[in-house]
Amino acid sequence: MAGDRYNTSMQSFQTFYQNGLRFSCVRCSACCRYESGCVFLSDDDLTLLIKTLKLPRHEVESLYCTWIPSGTVDCLSLKEKPNFDCIFWDDGCSIYESRPLQCRTFPFWDSILADADAWERSAKDCPGMGQGSLYAFDEIKRLVEQGNARTLIQRKRDTRRALW
Ligand code: SF4
Repeated sequence: MAGDRYNTSMQSFQTFYQNGLRFSCVRCSACCRYESGCVFLSDDDLTLLIKTLKLPRHEVESLYCTWIPSGTVDCLSLKEKPNFDCIFWDDGCSIYESRPLQCRTFPFWDSILADADAWERSAKDCPGMGQGSLYAFDEIKRLVEQGNARTLIQRKRDTRRALW
């Protein structure tokens, strides 16, 4: 990992966030609007949505979800509106308490924590990063591991449709 050091004498892995990182969401919605993006769902995420929306699974999937090609499979993701706003954006996140883990663990994702530059690049678009609550190294690690431990909902690619 660029910007990190593995000190063999101390047998400790040091990162740019060894002393923690500050983050408090200011609910500006910049990460949920304006640009296309994917919010991939796990079974737990979908179960929570079903409970919150009080709708059967097939309706939640058809109204609010879409399949996104990822490698050799398709992954279930939240839909976007035609203007790229998240399907659940309605003057703010309308399912905030039940939002998927991908949203809950932002910005503590491997890609954003790859190195200090990656963190700074993301922070340019998120006013919540670098200010507010201090997340200790162990807490950050826990959130990253929680995000990585998700099993995303996938299906086999329908190659017949891909030919059309
Ligand atoms: S861009 Fe950052 S501060 Fe704005 S809503 Fe997203 S996480 Fe919160």
